[in-house]
Order: sequence, then structure tokens, then C-alpha cells
Amino acid sequence: MRLLPCLIAAALLALPAHASTPGSGLDAADIAAAEGLRDRAIQGSQAWALVESLTTEVGPRIAGSPADARAVAWAKAKFEALGFDKVYLEPVTFPVWVRGHERAEVLAPFPQPLVITALGGSVGTPAGGVEAEVVAFADLAALSAAPEGSLKGKIAYISNRMVRFKDGRGYGPAVGARANGAVEAAKKGALAVVIRSIGTSNDRFGHTGTMRYLPEVPRIPAAALSNPDADLLSHMVQRGQPVRLRLDIATETRGDYTSHNVIGEIRGRDLPDEVVTIGGHLDSWDQGTGAIDDGAGVGLTMAAGALIGELERAPRRTVRVIAYANEEQGLYGGKAYAAARAAAGQIPGHQLSAESDFGAGRIYALRAGVDPAAWPVIERIGQVLAPLGIATEATGGSPGPDVGPIVALGAPWAQLAQDGTDYFDYHHTANDTLDKIDPKALDQQVAAYAVLAYLAAETDVDFGAVPVKPAN
Ligand code: ZN
Ligand code: ZN
Repeated sequence: MRLLPCLIAAALLALPAHASTPGSGLDAADIAAAEGLRDRAIQGSQAWALVESLTTEVGPRIAGSPADARAVAWAKAKFEALGFDKVYLEPVTFPVWVRGHERAEVLAPFPQPLVITALGGSVGTPAGGVEAEVVAFADLAALSAAPEGSLKGKIAYISNRMVRFKDGRGYGPAVGARANGAVEAAKKGALAVVIRSIGTSNDRFGHTGTMRYLPEVPRIPAAALSNPDADLLSHMVQRGQPVRLRLDIATETRGDYTSHNVIGEIRGRDLPDEVVTIGGHLDSWDQGTGAIDDGAGVGLTMAAGALIGELERAPRRTVRVIAYANEEQGLYGGKAYAAARAAAGQIPGHQLSAESDFGAGRIYALRAGVDPAAWPVIERIGQVLAPLGIATEATGGSPGPDVGPIVALGAPWAQLAQDGTDYFDYHHTANDTLDKIDPKALDQQVAAYAVLAYLAAETDVDFGAVPVKPAN
């Protein structure tokens, strides 16, 4: 009899690994299934082969291009080949932007060529280019503070430097120069704007990315200098003599094109109309092959969904994998997805949504925005993820870009945060290619997404609605 309490104590000690956590709505069989998914993914998933296929057989796939259509056909065929229960397309319409040529050179005082890339959405220069003196600004705020009319006949140059961090937090403070530099420069009368690339590489190519115009402000050309070329231009400006630049950019904005979100589903066994969504964006910029942005996100979430589809028993809710259209030029796919669900009254059916759009680095943290009553589910998922080196963090985080629009309507979200230390070395450049992806790191991410999607779809707990932030 004296042994018995010890046995009970030992059994209790052994319990947390497999038993349900109070409030998680998950039992030992659910956890065992999730651990099985995790371990199978780590042994080798289909993710790298999918990214290899997309980058090799489709390659650069800027939204609205013939390659965009080939990418949609590719995604549909892959979902079908992977055995998803339901595969369908959803229309997404947007204007088409096409890059022509882009050249820049210093005319004086030290004539030499510069490496640039036009920003996405930029208008071109008049034929033959523009020639003008450069006026340099440390950042967007300094440009915005310049007196009205002070840049008449000039080219504005914004030299702000993006800082490298594991979590990519250097991007936000720097990217305003790319997004709004043209509008702020045009308000002061500038003919064009050039910026230091929003990226952390020291390679001699520019980082592109989207920029915007306002209806009431003249549209001027906008380009990014490679970071070494930005250094060069800054060194010339620092000498105090007028620096003259020639900028010659050809681009074209055409009429509307309709692409598609491509969706694959593993049908839920009890509650097929309740969905857990994971995904990435199918489009890329036009220079690299879009391996890390966002071939990785598409490939790894497809592979995670396929693993769940191989289970003998599907989870209670539907797992929906979404390859979003045209994220790069304004979140068109995510916005169209949310608008269609809102119109159909399907927002409440969205249990948990996550997107992978931060490259192919290993995942190190799980964060979520759910009803506090559902937090025990997130903690239980975190316990299954812990052996992958993933910590559960109770605060911070944000949904992926394409998930943002449905989260703004109240849908709960999760984030599997990736190590993005080198992400901005390649982001939006010709150097975004397959060789930057470690297949083992990709498998770790498949494991994490499979566990997250499966357990979120299996739990009895409702993730609730998250408070909607007021629009500003
Ligand atoms: Zn992206
Ligand atoms: Zn991008």
C-alpha cells in the first residue's frame, strides 16, 4: 500500500506530456496525432520540393503577368496532386504595373553610373530621362519638413538606413521612405525621388517594393539605389558641391487584371463550415524567383495541409490553405478574401488564421490574438511546439499581411514568428532565389504549421472574436 501514492505521483508527473490541459479542449489522442504530424514533418516534408518546383517552373511571378497565371495553374495542380479535398479559385482584381528599363548616372561632379531599381507602381520619367541636382535628406521626416517649393526642379534623395534585427523591426521605421517618399517630394516640387534601398544587404542591386501616390499630388518617378550606390551618392553629397543626376525609368500601368487566390481544403469531420486558415502569397516581385518571398510560405503551408490530409481521421474543423494573389502591390488577395467572407457572413466561422510571409528562417515563437478564454489551447499547442525550439509568448506579435484584413473584421489569429536576421538581405531583389532556403529549416516550419492548424481545427474550444481596432 505504501507504494501506491508513489505510483499515483509518478503517473501524475507523467501526465502533462500526453493528457489534456484544462481548458484546451484537446485529449491525449489529439496531442498524439499532433506529435505524429510534427515528427513526420521533421523527418522530411514536401515543402522544399514545392518551392523548387515553383521557382524553377514558374519563376518570377509579378501580379498581372503571364507568370501570375502560370503560378495560379501551378498552385491548383499542386493542391490537387497533394490530395486536398476541395480546390478552388477566387477572383482578385487589380491594375497591372510593368517594369521597363531603369538607369541612373551621376553627371557631375564625379560622373559615373549608379545601380537602381524602380519602385513598384512608379511612373516613368519623360523619354530620355530627367537631369537635375540632388537634394539629400536623412529620412522621410526631414523631407516632409522641407519648405514648400524648395525642391522645384530637383531630385530628392532619402538616405535612411534600415537596421538589421532578428524580428525585422528595422523595416517599419525605414519603409515610409519607400511608400511615401514620392508624395512628400512631389509636394515640395521635386521632379523625382531616389531612396537608399529598404534592405540590409551590401550587394550592388536595389530592393524594390511598392510605393503609393495620392490623387491630389503630382506623380513623380521613384527608385531605390543599391545600398553601396547610396553610400557613394552620400559621399559625393558630403563634399558640398552640387551633385547632378540623370534618371531614366520606363514603366507602364495598364488596366485591370483578374488573378486568383488559390485555395485547398482538408474538410472538417464535424464542423466543415468552421475553418482554420494558413497560407502564403503566390505573387512575387519581378527580379528574383520569389523563393523566400513568398514561395517558402506557399510551399510550407501547402505541405503542412497535405500532412493533415494524410491523417486517418480529419480534424473537427476544416483546414484551409490559401495561396493569396497580389500581396506585394497592396494586399489585394487578402482584402478580396476578407471581403468575400464578410459578404457571405462567414467571418464568425473563422476560428484561427495564420500566414507565413517572412522568409524561410526557423520559427522561434508562437503568438496569438484570441479570446482570453481560448488561451489554454494556444498554451497546449505551444507545448507540442516546444521541442522545435519554439517558445509561446503571451504578448506581442501580429497577423501576417494577408490575414490583416480578416483580423480587422474580428477573426482570431496566430503568428509563428521566424528568424528574419537575413531576410532583408534578399527581400525584393534579384537575389531572392532558392539557394537561400535551408530545407531542414523549412521542415521545422512545416512541423509548426501542421501542429498549429491541426490542433486549432481539432479543439472543442471556440477561439472567439478578437476586439476590432477602430479604423483610423
Ligand atoms: Zn511577402
Ligand atoms: Zn514582399
